[in-house]
Amino acid sequence: MSAQRAIGLIRCKRDGGQLDASQLRAVAQGIGSGAWSEGQIAAFAMAVAWRGMSTPECRQFTLALRDSGQCLRWDHLPGPTLDKHSTGGVGDGVSLLLAPLLAACGGYVPMISGRGLGHTGGTLDKLESLAGYDVHPSTVRLRQVVEEVGCAIVGQGDELVPADRRLYAVRDVTATVDVADLMVASILSKKLAGGARVLVLDIKTGNGAQLPGMAAARALAGRMLAVAEGSGLDLRVVYSDMDQLLGREAGNALELRAVLDLLCGRGDNPRLLSLTLELAAALLCTGGLADDRNDAERRLRRALDTGEAAERFARMVVALGGPADLLQRADVHLARAPIQREVRSPGSGYVVAVDVRALG
Ligand code: URA
Repeated sequence: MSAQRAIGLIRCKRDGGQLDASQLRAVAQGIGSGAWSEGQIAAFAMAVAWRGMSTPECRQFTLALRDSGQCLRWDHLPGPTLDKHSTGGVGDGVSLLLAPLLAACGGYVPMISGRGLGHTGGTLDKLESLAGYDVHPSTVRLRQVVEEVGCAIVGQGDELVPADRRLYAVRDVTATVDVADLMVASILSKKLAGGARVLVLDIKTGNGAQLPGMAAARALAGRMLAVAEGSGLDLRVVYSDMDQLLGREAGNALELRAVLDLLCGRGDNPRLLSLTLELAAALLCTGGLADDRNDAERRLRRALDTGEAAERFARMVVALGGPADLLQRADVHLARAPIQREVRSPGSGYVVAVDVRALG
């Protein structure tokens, strides 16, 4: 693309114009291929921050980002591809529990996960507390693991949505991470490239959430639903509470340990379990793997009780380079925090509020 074309596209957005599908493809192509400089990407991101995008424009930009790299296709699989995105929480190991549960119920979960943002935890960081687990396998390996095991939780890799990776890195240092249109396009483009057909969006509210208030949460949900329409992604939204920790612990290895306990029938973690079942049930029903909410919960609980979900998790870990005896010897394989401090209550009483953001 000529320098003049890039400048023209940035100027159009800066002046409040709307870009059409072919112009947005040129933007995504310029970013993903490396043709656009960081300065040009930053100028474009800031122009979107000020001028916004219309819904059709945001949808076209989402599709253009998706097409900047490979798109995974799973049409040959006998079950639906299901996935989840969360706006980020503390003590939130849901993805780790959800993926093997869905796989055990007949779904396929190619889950492209991310790192922690701000005070919230990231699924990839949690998995990296496990010795040997490869969070960046090749696309070929990812395909194999999803086909054979039913689920794979991995990072974005070089081949998927390269334009988003570059754009996100620039947003991160130009105060444009929280620009709604860029956020929606970034999230949905990755889910579409990963080949999900049904996506449940877990929007957190409360003092530990990225968007604490209900109004902002609803606005994000509305934007996501509008942009996803017609994209091939069936989107469902669940609002969940982040006014207290989701599980009983916060910390990468501790949260992974808690999930293993639930998978092995040892855990006492009702909030973590109930949100996971809620999200998983929405996916099973929408994906056609359960007749209704009750049927979905029955199937999910059976997958837990029979050990089928635990087995899926263990097979995923082995397939991605982790230890073969994780379920039997979790203590040996999970990282330990280098600093541990005991915090004692100065007196007896009741906990009436938790500053989840500070805790995160
Ligand atoms: N996660 C993403 O992938 N992109 C965003 O912009 C925010 C969260």
